Amino acid sequence: MIVAIDGPAASGKSTVARALAARLGLPFLDTGSMYRAVTLKVLERGLDPTDGEACAAVAEAIALDYDGDGRIRIDGQPGEPHIRGAEVNRHVSRVSAHPGVRRAIVPKQRALAEQRGAVAEGRDTTTVVFPEADHKFFLTASPRERARRRAAEEDRVHEVEAIQAAIERRDARDRERPDSPLRRSPDALQVDTDDLTPEQVVERLLEHLGAGA
Ligand code: C5P
Repeated sequence: MIVAIDGPAASGKSTVARALAARLGLPFLDTGSMYRAVTLKVLERGLDPTDGEACAAVAEAIALDYDGDGRIRIDGQPGEPHIRGAEVNRHVSRVSAHPGVRRAIVPKQRALAEQRGAVAEGRDTTTVVFPEADHKFFLTASPRERARRRAAEEDRVHEVEAIQAAIERRDARDRERPDSPLRRSPDALQVDTDDLTPEQVVERLLEHLGAGA
């Protein structure tokens, strides 16, 4: 079974997808970790993140898999926590926007999910990567609430305004990019998470899976 979960930055996709995967006994596929891995390699090699051809060559050659806890390995080496660093954060949107990078990475995501099923999380999982997923969800939350969550996560509670502005900029960039923009697939169930805890969101998704089974 493939469950795809999509939505804007800081909508709670990762937390919910990870918990749902555990509840369903399915592997968790964090698609963003693959773009982060490519970005890390590009930076380590001193390549230019705006050079689409160079980034695509890295994406084609890179070997990606996951350990038993769902943590990414890059060419056999642990990718965490390096893929979450500030430099990767700064460049990943640009690297992931190159069509050649997406052409190389999407088949790797499909191959992993085809082996054992997956709960896949990421902004094009319902539209591009798994258009035939058994279940699709689009999680939303207001920009304010998403900023609050990110601020709490990063221990920057006094910076909610600035974080909200950054989230709105990233939303706009992700919606407007020509290749795989962020958008809700018409057949994805939209769940507004503003007033829900992650546990409540997971319960709601499970209810829906039960109803559809
Ligand atoms: O989800 P995460 O924040 O780790 O994703 C990092 C970046 O990777 C996103 O900002 C986006 O630019 C890119 N990404 C993507 N397609 C996905 C998942 C992530 O383009 N399916």
